[in-house]
Amino acid sequence: MSVTRPLDPAAVPGPVASLLRGLQGAGHRAVLVGGCVRDLVRGVEVSDWDVGTSARPEAVQALFPKTVPTGLKHGTVTVLTNGEGAGAVEVTTFRVESGYSDARRPDHVEFTDDLQADLERRDFTVNAMAWDPIADREYDPFAGRADLAAGLLRAVGDPRIRFHEDGLRPMRAARFAATLEVAIVPETFEAMGEAREQVARVAAERIRDELTKMLRAREPSRGFEVLRRSGLLAVVLPELQATVAVPQNRYHAYDVYFHTLYTCDAAPKEKPEVRLAALFHDLGKPATRAEKPDGDATFYNHQFESARLAERAMTRLRYPGDVIERVSHLVRLHMFDYRPEWSDAAVRRFLRAAGPENVADLFDLRIADNVGNGTKVGFPHYLGELSDRIEQVLASAQAFTLRDLAVDGRDVMRELKAPAGPKIGAVLERLLEEVIEHPERNDRPYLLKRLREGYTIDTESPAD
Ligand code: ATP
Ligand code: MG
Repeated sequence: MSVTRPLDPAAVPGPVASLLRGLQGAGHRAVLVGGCVRDLVRGVEVSDWDVGTSARPEAVQALFPKTVPTGLKHGTVTVLTNGEGAGAVEVTTFRVESGYSDARRPDHVEFTDDLQADLERRDFTVNAMAWDPIADREYDPFAGRADLAAGLLRAVGDPRIRFHEDGLRPMRAARFAATLEVAIVPETFEAMGEAREQVARVAAERIRDELTKMLRAREPSRGFEVLRRSGLLAVVLPELQATVAVPQNRYHAYDVYFHTLYTCDAAPKEKPEVRLAALFHDLGKPATRAEKPDGDATFYNHQFESARLAERAMTRLRYPGDVIERVSHLVRLHMFDYRPEWSDAAVRRFLRAAGPENVADLFDLRIADNVGNGTKVGFPHYLGELSDRIEQVLASAQAFTLRDLAVDGRDVMRELKAPAGPKIGAVLERLLEEVIEHPERNDRPYLLKRLREGYTIDTESPAD
């Protein structure tokens, strides 16, 4: 159970306080509301300051010199303060909502002067508190502070109705379970599972944003477990649901699903792409599982199937292309291996395949994977050794990328009298392979001679 804090007006940045005074001075009601009040009560840093007011959006725009009409129909105006510690503050007119016929957005939004009515439309008791730091008055009609103190998440009103109205709310519940480290009260939890259809209708990018916030929690596993136990994991990430109860082998203490969750928890919280890679790294295990005669299991080449499923899941959830590419690359390479007898050429081949910019993330993923096994911990000795070998290769300017090659695409086109196109790249790749094996051959006259003598554009391979 956590301690809650008394609210201290000194915690409110000057520009936010003047904004509230400006609205109140013009005869409107104005309070801090939602996530910022919740975070002040928890005693954690506030990320955005949200103001609720009885002023209509036009009145807010008229009162402040710099505003952005963020969502006028829903009553939101962003006021740009130029002071320290606040920046942009969202000012939203008190409102009531009705008629969620599509389980996504309310059909009607009506403005009101009534703070209580505005708090009633909010999702959870801990998010339905307001505070006027000027008069130092706290509004907590649903006992959100008591729920925070007891570590509980509870829907405002009837959770069935609230989740039926908006299918994003069950996802928010799972996210808050992870980020606030609270338990969901039984009635609210049961209503989550009953809202499967509503959740399935929510736009993919909104689901993705909740998953992204969940992955920033200390232990994302708390959120994923809520999703699994409520039946929603099968709706939003069926690929992860498929790993539940898939047994592993003697190197592992857990099934594939729990191993995945613990790997994700162990991945660095400040590296969202490594956490995503951790979440997806073993998705291919169910499909590649084979049993040996002694009953132990193998998962040969599961990393490729994992990368394929990771791409599928991230594409469906509308992750940006560069994230999909980086994360699936990490997943595909997560089984990398190192042995002391590796030649320098083997180290260069590893660097070529991984990309030097991904090595640190791959190491983090490996360490998390080991922690997630429940059998090993700490920084493995061989990673230190591989790291030293990589340093040596990087320091000695040995070629392992196309850019390091002493010839380029123009040279290939000229020497082979061939037009630009993918075949030029393929020829460069072959030259690079040769140079990775024999670094002394990264010599311009040699490579030009090689092009003239040994390559034909049709076979894409050296003629020797
Ligand atoms: P954070 O900003 O830390 O992600 P938050 O609680 O501030 O968390 P926002 O999405 O910024 O979340 O929303 C601000 C407030 O608006 C919430 O605290 C809640 O009161 C209300 N709210 C947001 N989304 C919903 C929703 N789908 N249904 C009902 N109320 C909501
Ligand atoms: Mg917020």
